[in-house]
Amino acid sequence: MNSSSRFSSDELLEILSLSHNATAIHSTMALTVQTANDAMLAIWGKDRSVIGLPLEEALPELKGQPFIGMMQAVLNTGITHEDVNTPADLVVNGKLQTFYFDFSYRAIKNAQGETYCLLHTATDVTDRYLKHQALLSAQKTEAALAREQSLNEELATTIEELSATNKELKDTQQKLEQLNTELEDRVARRTMALSKSEANFRNMILQAPVAIGLFKGYDMVLDMINDKFLQLWGRDKSVLGKRLEDALPELRDQPFIKIMQGVYATDVPYFGNEAKVMLERNGRMEEGFYNFINHPFKDAEGNTTGIIVVATDVTEQVQARKELEKAEEKTRFALEAANVGTWFLDVETREFVVSARLKEQFGYYADEEVTYEMAAAAIPDEYKEKVMKAVEKAITTGRDYVMEHPVIGHHDQKKRWVRAYGKLYPDDSGKLSHFSGLIIDITEQKQDEMRKNDFIGMVSHELKTPLTSLSAYAQMLYNKARNNDDGFTLGALEKVNTQVKKMSTMINGFLNVSRLESGRIFLNKHDFALDELVAEMIDDARLTIASHNINFTHSEPLMLNADRDKIGSVISNLLSNAVKYSPRGKNIQVECRLINNMAQISVKDEGMGVKPQDIEKIFDRYYRVESSHTQTVSGFGIGLYLCAEIVHRHDGKIGVESQKAEGSTFYFTLPVN
Ligand code: ADP
Repeated sequence: MNSSSRFSSDELLEILSLSHNATAIHSTMALTVQTANDAMLAIWGKDRSVIGLPLEEALPELKGQPFIGMMQAVLNTGITHEDVNTPADLVVNGKLQTFYFDFSYRAIKNAQGETYCLLHTATDVTDRYLKHQALLSAQKTEAALAREQSLNEELATTIEELSATNKELKDTQQKLEQLNTELEDRVARRTMALSKSEANFRNMILQAPVAIGLFKGYDMVLDMINDKFLQLWGRDKSVLGKRLEDALPELRDQPFIKIMQGVYATDVPYFGNEAKVMLERNGRMEEGFYNFINHPFKDAEGNTTGIIVVATDVTEQVQARKELEKAEEKTRFALEAANVGTWFLDVETREFVVSARLKEQFGYYADEEVTYEMAAAAIPDEYKEKVMKAVEKAITTGRDYVMEHPVIGHHDQKKRWVRAYGKLYPDDSGKLSHFSGLIIDITEQKQDEMRKNDFIGMVSHELKTPLTSLSAYAQMLYNKARNNDDGFTLGALEKVNTQVKKMSTMINGFLNVSRLESGRIFLNKHDFALDELVAEMIDDARLTIASHNINFTHSEPLMLNADRDKIGSVISNLLSNAVKYSPRGKNIQVECRLINNMAQISVKDEGMGVKPQDIEKIFDRYYRVESSHTQTVSGFGIGLYLCAEIVHRHDGKIGVESQKAEGSTFYFTLPVN
């Protein structure tokens, strides 16, 4: 296109003005409005009168808005400035209103490229913009609503949670309150209990069955003391609050206050055992014995503030014990003086304790330890078994133990005779577990007895010789009288013979006792038939006994290995006793049987019988039952003793069964071949 065909500016403006797009052209830096079409004027709210005016004047309301600056920058730089939805405040219809525009400021340049004016186009997008904004805001509101909704929901749950938490909190608070009240209650109760327990403590002290006192400070000031203590002192309550040495001046020269002060200073308790205390009671000094404890008394912080003393009066016990000790001393003295030894044996542990005297009796030194075995060792072998058996029997049966036996002194080898007495005593549980007793030295007595035995033996022996010749002469005279048919002499000599026989039985008895005692009796054993011997003895007895009926029953022949003469004497002894101790005309039943592999011979009479209390003793030497009947029967109480000795030496047993006034059955057993 050439320049002639180019439109002039005005023509161009004319064309522009027809455009519906709002257009204006500004020139110079004052942005003078060269032209503005109707659309632009409508936007501005102005009429054509603004054409030719600088923009600031044409639209004074632009002052303070960025547009004039922007346009000037485009004029200066030549760089187009465009934007959309830009708000501008314009006075339209006399009212300042905000409108929104899509606009552009474009620099129009000449052929030299110099900017000579600015083309301003704008579209009013207020409607669109506002609608869009309304939509946006509606969307926003919706989103906000949705957010709010969810927020609300969240809030609701949060509220719910909160209210639950709140409830919990409330509950907890309630519980706490309850706990608090309980705690307060408890504290109150504790406090009460504490004061109660303190009161109890005081009461306990005051009512305690033992003497209790509390002494405060180093000076031992009486702080609390019970009646028991006051009684023990023989004082009244006026001592309270006083120092101990002022309350009981008599204690000043006794060690007790110092001991208490020692406990106070060192904190170490002190235990007094059977302490002797001198106290002034009723104007007199009296001796008493006390067990006591001095214990440090501490306050709540653990500081020792005093001493607690607990005391028990043991005066009576101590005195009783002293009495007992005195009595024991006396007994010991008496025992020593009487040459009596004592022993103690624990049945279970076999612990053996003996006195010094007993040790001496057994030939040990008084200071040497003597065991049960050592004591037993001093007993000669021939007695040992018997003694041990007797001890065990006493222990198992609980019966008293009495035994005579010799001992051979361990160191001095001296023979002594002793008599031992033993008894079982119960322990605390009532079990018979202590076996103790005495041992008396009977050596002298025994020697006397032996001398007596020897004497009896000697006398018996001496008496036997004249008796034998007496018997021989009587026999000769008997023969002579028979030849002469001298009836009277014959009768008299028969009586002499009977008496001589009686006498010789007696003398033989004594002789046997003396032999037995001195251990000079020996068994002369042979094999023989027991039933035959019994029959013989019965026949012999029948020769002299016409007063009783003697019957003999026996089952089978019984062979023995024994001393025939001595067993014969046992049978004859039992027969003669049956005659002696039962009335005339009564029966005597003799039996010979085998029982449990032992031959048993029994002699049953219908006489006076033996009382139970005598049964044990009639086999003792010289023992005779005392009764009006036995007084009329001669005897020395040696027959059964000899029988028992003979039977025992044959390892047999002897005994009696008797019903009062129904007679007795004496029996003995002997081992068969
Ligand atoms: P003795 O007959 O010489 O007195 P014994 O030793 O034979 O001596 O007897 C001892 C005691 O036993 C007698 O004194 C008598 O009391 C009692 N005795 C013995 N045998 C019988 C009996 N068969 N019946 C009743 N008592 C008897």
